[in-house]
Amino acid sequence: MASSRTLGTFRLPPLPTIREIIKLFRLQAVKQLSQNFLLDLRLTDKIVRKAGNLTNAYVYEVGPGPGGITRSILNAGVAELLVVEKDSRFIPGLQMLSDAAPGKLRIVHGDVLTFKIERAFPESLKRQWEDDPPNVHIIGNLPFSVSTPLIIKWLENVSQRNGPFAYGRTRMMLTFQKEVAERLTATTGSKQRSRLSIMAQYLCDVQHILTIPGQAFVPKPEVDSGVVHFTPLTRPRIEQPFKLVEKVVQNAFQFRRKYCHRGLGMLFPEARRLESTGKLLELADVDPTLRPTQLTVSHFKSLCDVYRKMCDEDPHLFAYNFREELRQKSKKEDDKQSCRL
Ligand code: SAM
Repeated sequence: MASSRTLGTFRLPPLPTIREIIKLFRLQAVKQLSQNFLLDLRLTDKIVRKAGNLTNAYVYEVGPGPGGITRSILNAGVAELLVVEKDSRFIPGLQMLSDAAPGKLRIVHGDVLTFKIERAFPESLKRQWEDDPPNVHIIGNLPFSVSTPLIIKWLENVSQRNGPFAYGRTRMMLTFQKEVAERLTATTGSKQRSRLSIMAQYLCDVQHILTIPGQAFVPKPEVDSGVVHFTPLTRPRIEQPFKLVEKVVQNAFQFRRKYCHRGLGMLFPEARRLESTGKLLELADVDPTLRPTQLTVSHFKSLCDVYRKMCDEDPHLFAYNFREELRQKSKKEDDKQSCRL
C-alpha cells in the first residue's frame, strides 16, 4: 500500500526545458521524418490527462522524441513507462529523464512497427477480455505516415487479441492528422465517414478528444492534429475475420459518391456481378441505393455475415480481386491487338 502511494505521488525533479534539451543535444527536427515536437508541458499534461487515470499504470509511449509527453506521463504517477524511439539522437535526452525517474523509464531504441510489446510488461497485468481494461495504456504522437498504418495493424491485433491486446482491452491514445481523426470517429451519414470509421468503430469505442492546432508544434506542420482515444469493445460489432471485414468495407467505399451496390459489386466476378450483388444486398436487407457513407456498422455486420456465407459456399470467392480481373482482361485485349498487327 505504502509503495503504491509512493508511485502515485512521484514528480520529476527540476529539469532543463524541452527547448533546452533540443538545443543541448542538437535535436533539430528532421523534415523528411515528419518530426514535429510539443514543447508546452501544460499542453502535454492536458493530453496525458485525457488518457485517464495513469496512477500505477504501465504505459507504452511510441515516438517520445525530445520527451515532452514522456515527462507528463512520468508525472502522472505511472508504475513504469516504456518508450520506443527510432531516431538515436533522442536517446541521450531520454536517458537524462530516466536518471531523473529511477526505475520508471525504460528506453528502447527501435521501431514501433516491429517492437513486441506483448512480452515487455509483467504477465500479472493480463486481464480476461471481458473484464475491465488492464492497467496498460498506449500513448503516442507519431508522424502521420506511421500512425495510420500502425492503427490498422493494431486494430487487427484487437480483433485477434494479440500484440498490445495480449494484456486484454488495452486503451490507446494517439494523435493523427485532424482529418484522419475525424474519419476514425465519423458517424453514419457524415462527410468524413470512410473505411477507417467502420474498421475502428466495429472493434473499439472511439473518441476524438482533442484538436491540437498546428502552431502548438515546433516546427509547425501544415495541418492540425486530432487526439483519438480507443477502448476495445468486449464484443466486436462484427464477428467475422478482420481481413473479411476489411475486404467488404474497402469495396463498399470504392465509389464513395455512388450507390453502395456499385462498390459492393466489386466483390464478385464480372460474369455474375449483378446476380451476386443482388443476392448479397437482399439477404443482408440493405437498400442498394444507400451511399457508402450512409451505411451503419450494423449494415456492415449483415453484409459481412452474408458475404461470409457466400465465401463458404464458393471457396474461390474470397480470393477474387476485381483489379486482377481487369488486368487480365486488358492483357488479353493487348494480346489480341498485337496478333492483328
Ligand atoms: N512525441 C514527441 C512530441 O510529441 O514532441 C515527438 C513527436 S514526433 C511527431 C514523432 C516521433 O516519433 C519522433 O521522435 C520520431 O523519431 C519518432 N518515430 C517516427 N517513426 C517511428 C517509428 N517507426 N518507431 C519509433 N519512433 C518513431
